[in-house]
Amino acid sequence: RGKRAFIAGVADDNGYGWAIAKSLAAAGAEILVGTWVPALNIFESSLRRGKFDESRVLPDGSLMEISKVYPLDAVFDSLEDVPEDIRTNKRYAGSSKWTVQEVAESVKQDFGSIDILVHSLANGPEVTKPLLETSRNGYLAAISASSYSFVSLLRHFVPIMNPGGASISLTYIASERIIPGYGGGMSSAKAALESDTKVLAFEAGRKHKVRVNTISAGPLRSRAAKAIGFIDMMIDYSLENAPLQKELSAEEVGNAAAFLVSPLASAITGTVLYVDNGLNAMGVGV
Ligand code: NAD
Repeated sequence: RGKRAFIAGVADDNGYGWAIAKSLAAAGAEILVGTWVPALNIFESSLRRGKFDESRVLPDGSLMEISKVYPLDAVFDSLEDVPEDIRTNKRYAGSSKWTVQEVAESVKQDFGSIDILVHSLANGPEVTKPLLETSRNGYLAAISASSYSFVSLLRHFVPIMNPGGASISLTYIASERIIPGYGGGMSSAKAALESDTKVLAFEAGRKHKVRVNTISAGPLRSRAAKAIGFIDMMIDYSLENAPLQKELSAEEVGNAAAFLVSPLASAITGTVLYVDNGLNAMGVGV
């Protein structure tokens, strides 16, 4: 039987989530995605109208199929957590069952189980502010959307993950080195995500035989990265200073993700894998 993957954080064809979906589909996995509720309509209508057809092409010439798109807002665990203003917001009121617990229940109802869980989402409302100017609410929102969202997803999905399954998330080196411009508590959120990768690898490994890893990816011109405002500078910096002087493609991260969740990586858990043209290994720019 082929593997089934749930990929949280796909809303267009530019980000790492889409590329990971493609690499997993190319390896024969069935693809389910979770799309942020406010982005759902445009993503689904673009899919339907064929706007992504060119980027759906797999190496064998076929088109990637997405078995189902689930609305998801990973900052809410269950319906009781949803405040009135969101519940009645017109972008949210059009969809239902988009809290983490409800999405996991729906996937269980529709498909029974999954083998692979991918977390490819982040949000920090004050990301453009230095940490020194970040509010408590901004900091906690970054942690909620970018770190706890992974704990919550794994917590709710692990009961329907088959033994031998694997999960991955995407992190960034700003967790451990100073990257001016990656503000709003996002650097803190990535540090939490990396630490949680270890603890969750232990807990999910012992209890469910599920592996947990994270990929520390180099810069990509995704929608989220463009919102931070310094992505072109980071891409140029990497081109100039990394051991491998080429632009990083989303596909390279997708392929590393496919490896990490495959049986080829069956003894790898609790790790941060750098997929960044080696930039992390440099001490000074040259
Ligand atoms: P992206 O815009 O393709 O993906 C981010 C996704 O998160 C979007 O689809 C957005 O709709 C979704 N999202 C935001 N808040 C959400 C919520 N509350 N619930 C559900 N979904 C929500 O951008 P990306 O850069 O590919 O980001 C994917 C991951 O890669 C993130 O964790 C990001 O931090 C990480 N990453 C990106 C880079 C880069 O340079 N682009 C580098 C290293 C790591």
